[in-house]
Amino acid sequence: MSNQEPNKTKLKLAIQKSGRLYEDSIRLLKECGIDVSNGMNKLKADATNFPLEVFFLRDDDIPQYVEDGVADIGFVGENVVFEKNKKVIITEKLGFGKCRLSIAIQRNESYSGVDYLAGKKIATSYPVILADYLSKNNIEAEIHEISGSVEIAPGIGLADAICDLVSSGSTLFMNGLKESEVILQSQAVLIKNELLDASKQQLLDRLIFRIESVKKAKNNKYILLNAPNNNLQQIISLLPGMKSPTVLPLAEAGWSSVHSVLNENEFWDIIEQLKAAGAQGILVIPIEKMII
Ligand code: ATP
Ligand code: ZN
Repeated sequence: MSNQEPNKTKLKLAIQKSGRLYEDSIRLLKECGIDVSNGMNKLKADATNFPLEVFFLRDDDIPQYVEDGVADIGFVGENVVFEKNKKVIITEKLGFGKCRLSIAIQRNESYSGVDYLAGKKIATSYPVILADYLSKNNIEAEIHEISGSVEIAPGIGLADAICDLVSSGSTLFMNGLKESEVILQSQAVLIKNELLDASKQQLLDRLIFRIESVKKAKNNKYILLNAPNNNLQQIISLLPGMKSPTVLPLAEAGWSSVHSVLNENEFWDIIEQLKAAGAQGILVIPIEKMII
């Protein structure tokens, strides 16, 4: 007997309702070909073209929801995952929401190293991560937990130092502070419940496959250039490519068109070497998806 019952399993994804991670979370889904129409103030929405149900929550609550299985997976900052310390599995880095959790002190203080913090009062919304950092460094300090506007604490005499998220550092600067120690580099990650059943894991594998294709595409560029045939081998040897570069003859004798894929990290180095080797008319084109 064949089982033709349509599979109604849906993967339940928790994302931030509004805030710094919201736009990028929706964008990533869109780049994965998944549309979610989020009417204002809705708690959840169905994706139109993937078996996915999206819950919109405060980011701080996402690890708990995923641990409890109310949501199967979530997009949330590593900073929140480590602070909440719930039983969830980090499955994939998502490449957005990049920031660091740092200790900052008053700008006019001279900083001697972590020992400076001994006996000091540090204001933070991250007491768990901070306590762990201090204990690993054998520092005894007083942790003063506050939930927001941590950066004003030293200025009003509430604390000697703070431990807070930083991206550009401009908030610190405006509050007369300087970053003295980075204790965590963070970005948004995909977390999952520890006990996903096989059908949900299968859906998650499909989603992760798409996320990885999008991430790879972002880290790579398609490059086209014209190469003089007398230096073709040298130019080809500079190009990594997915297999090997495509080489096509140009209408003009003695020249070829070379196509390849370059990784962002090695991009400028290789471009300089290509120019030095005689490459001309170099075009660099973004890649939308990369399936390997
Ligand atoms: P919520 O209302 O959902 O609790 P929130 O005020 O706690 O929101 P946001 O300020 O929107 O949170 O930040 C959400 C996440 O964005 C942070 O936990 C962090 O992972 C990431 N992030 C990236 N850059 C920064 C930054 N400069 N400052 C704060 N968070 C940042
Ligand atoms: Zn929050």
